[in-house]
Amino acid sequence: MRFPALIAALLLGACASVPAGSPELAPGAVPLTLSPGVAWVAAGEGWAEEAKEVFAEAAAYAGTVATSRPDKSWAVVLDLDETVLNNVDYQISREALGEGFTAESWHAWTQEERATLVPGTDEFIAAVNAAGGHVAFVTNRTDTEQLATEKNLAAIGLRRGEDFRVLLTRAYPAAPGEKDARFELVPAMLAVQGFEGVEVVAYIGDNVGDKPKEPGAWEFFCIDQGAMYGAPCATVPGPGQ
Ligand SMILES: [Mg+2]
Repeated sequence: MRFPALIAALLLGACASVPAGSPELAPGAVPLTLSPGVAWVAAGEGWAEEAKEVFAEAAAYAGTVATSRPDKSWAVVLDLDETVLNNVDYQISREALGEGFTAESWHAWTQEERATLVPGTDEFIAAVNAAGGHVAFVTNRTDTEQLATEKNLAAIGLRRGEDFRVLLTRAYPAAPGEKDARFELVPAMLAVQGFEGVEVVAYIGDNVGDKPKEPGAWEFFCIDQGAMYGAPCATVPGPGQ
């Protein structure tokens, strides 16, 4: 079970002192009724198993792809937040304050570089690289968050060049969140790095916008994030899937 330090602190009761570095609690705000999706992800059990299953399916698919394609001729594109990076501690901190998402608090969270790994991600990425594929990340984190994001990824074992080759953010403050133009750029970026003619064979994400709008010769694998953010791709987000 992954119970973040904040929950543990809150469960100790309102009289417990808040550890240094934890978000300030508003007076009287000791909620401890997390929204269902956040509680599900924070508890970890069913959520982690589901994520591992999806990544295992995606790895099996990549293995099949690899049998019919030359090395380095194919790629997979992953979203980052709630697909590779687990930000449930951010969400808990917001709910503890009785607040929702804001760009400012989110930016501050990204600079802490404390997101953890969504279970199954590392095995999937290792499998793709071992099978001869490329790994690319297309995220709606902003370019002002790119440095901290790469450091956060490295801290959890995902390094540029070894584990992934492309990380496409969007321009601060208001570049489109729509990803199609960046998806189209991935093969071109790999081409100028010496890998011509790469085809993207799979997209992995937690939102409906984590794959191209138009169908193509690729598969999509959906990570259930408990409906914490955006427009989830899970048909019925949350436990029991
Ligand atoms: Mg996401």
